[in-house]
Order: sequence, then structure tokens, then C-alpha cells
Amino acid sequence: MNDIPKPLLATVNQAELTDFVARYDQPSFRTKQLLDWVFHKRILVPSQMKNIPLVLRNALEENFCCCSSEVETIDCAGDATEKLLINLRDSNSIEMVIISSPERKTFCLSTQVGCPVQCYFCASGADGLIRNLNAGEMVEQLYHGSERIDALPDNIVFMGIGEGLLNFNNLATAIGIMCDHERLNISPRRITVSTSGYVPGIAKLAQLNLPLNLAVSLHAPNDTIRAKLIPEKMSYPIAEIIEACNAYRANTGRMVTFEYTLIAGINDMVPAAEELAAIARQNRVKVNLIPYNPVSGTEFKRPELSALKNFEAVLLNRGVQTTMRLEKGSSVNAACGQLRASGKK
Ligand code: SF4
Repeated sequence: MNDIPKPLLATVNQAELTDFVARYDQPSFRTKQLLDWVFHKRILVPSQMKNIPLVLRNALEENFCCCSSEVETIDCAGDATEKLLINLRDSNSIEMVIISSPERKTFCLSTQVGCPVQCYFCASGADGLIRNLNAGEMVEQLYHGSERIDALPDNIVFMGIGEGLLNFNNLATAIGIMCDHERLNISPRRITVSTSGYVPGIAKLAQLNLPLNLAVSLHAPNDTIRAKLIPEKMSYPIAEIIEACNAYRANTGRMVTFEYTLIAGINDMVPAAEELAAIARQNRVKVNLIPYNPVSGTEFKRPELSALKNFEAVLLNRGVQTTMRLEKGSSVNAACGQLRASGKK
């Protein structure tokens, strides 16, 4: 159920506001004032729009759903990570995460309620897909996070719950609103789209002709290991994923990152590292290693520190651009699904 009768205010564009202002016989400069409130001051509550006349504020309430979601709880992970549990209008809930470092603030946004990919190690996918988020619900996550930090984020990663490329049109609309110069005016270079390796979606993303960053949750150097982590019905052969990544880089000029969640005894062995290094070098991809955060209800375990270090060393020794954060529970480099490893709604 996703019955939202009125357009969400966070998705309105300049042309629609121009029409709206004219319909209420208001001077045209009101359009700019409304754009300023909604997208620059990021205020979605008409009663707070002080220089807007009452008639227009009431009309906003009548014509738009001013905010369709609300923050229920904020969970501080103790490592400069805040997880916001957000209630949607249909009583479903999602999460967005604020990741703070001295240099930057990153928002991690969800794209679906649940996830159809159902990776075996992930809590988010356990119940499968419940529904797609609409574009406004994605943009509202950004508003909730921005209210918390009183600013726009430095970076946005679509790495929360869901496979965003399986909700492509809504994701593309949300990105369009975020990057629109008249609206949130965020550079696409500061936005990363994560995928479990949905090949047709990677091709569609390239067609947006935006320099968005692409992160692919590869998690394995070959299809045999990958089948232990991602159901085969939702998985593409690694060779096809690599081909799609190379086409993406050629089209957008952006380097691709492989997200690799390290899981004890599954994909953390030295031969796997050597195989991954060969693929990464040959295809000029960066690798982001993510020590697994165990999820209750699965048998998967985080590797020992020595195994993590050995794996990383193999990649670095072979000249692969590699990052890994070792803090337990850190979400700074989390792949989708790992963000909510410590708790399910
Ligand atoms: S890891 Fe990502 S793609 Fe896999 S089930 Fe979880 S949210 Fe979906």
C-alpha cells in the first residue's frame, strides 16, 4: 500500500510552484520565496514560512503533502554514526544513517522497504521486498538528516535498505531533485549509487549521463563464492557485472568501487584476495573492504583481525586502491545491509 493522494512538497519543481502561485493570484516573486523555503532553508512546514501570506500557506497544506514521514527514533552507534528510524505514512519504516567524520558528513539513504535481493548475510533482505520508496520519500530522508546536522551533507550514498537499481525511476527522480540547481543543488559527484550487481540497472544509470559514483557489492571474486552470499536468482555472473562496470566508467568517466564484505571462512581466504586483486587491477576498480558485522539469525561470522589484515595486504601489495575500516560497528564504509546489522526494526 502506498496511497499518497497529494504530491509531496519535497518533490515540487519550479514550474509547478509557478502554476500554484498563479492559481492563487499571488505575485510571481512568491515562487522564488517558496523555492527558497522548501529547498534552501529546507522547511516543509508552511506555518514556519514567515514571509508567505496565510492564504498561500493554507493553500500549500491543501495542495501538497508537506511531509509524509517522521523520525521515530535516533540511535547513536557511538562511533559518530547516527541511525534514524523513519516512519512512513503507511506505517512501514526505513532507516537513514548519518556518518560523521572530521572531514565530512555522509548520509546513507534507503531506496526500498525491505529488499528483493535477500542476500543471505543481510537483515534488511530477510523478509524480501515490501514496497518501493517513492522519490519524495527518498528526498525526505535527506531532509530529516539535514535537520539533524543543520546543513546539507557533503556526500550521499544510496546504500541503505534496498536495491536502488530495482526501483530505478524513483531513484532517478530523487537524484534529479537533489542535483537540480533550482532545488537542492548537490553535485552528482558527491552522490554514490550502490547496487548488488543488477546489470540492467547499471546500464540505465549510465544513461542518466550524470557523473554519479557507482559502488558494486561484489563480495566475492568468483561466481561459486558469490552463490554462497547472494541468491542465484537475483545475481548476475561476475563477468557480466564487470562488463557493465567498465561500460559505466567509459560512459561517465567515474571510477567504480567494489564493496567486499569479508566473512569468515567464506570469502576471506588469501586465494580469494589474489583473485579479487587480479580482477580489480585488470578493470581499474577501487576495493572497499568491510569486515562483516554479524546479524542475529545467520551463521556468518566476522573474520579474525589477522585474516582481515592478510586480505588487505594482498590487495595493497598488488597495487589495488583499497580501503578498510576496522572499528567494530563502524558504518563509514558500510555496504547496503551492513548498516542495520546491529538491529532490526
Ligand atoms: S545486502 Fe543490500 S542488496 Fe543484499 S539484501 Fe541487503 S539491502 Fe538487499
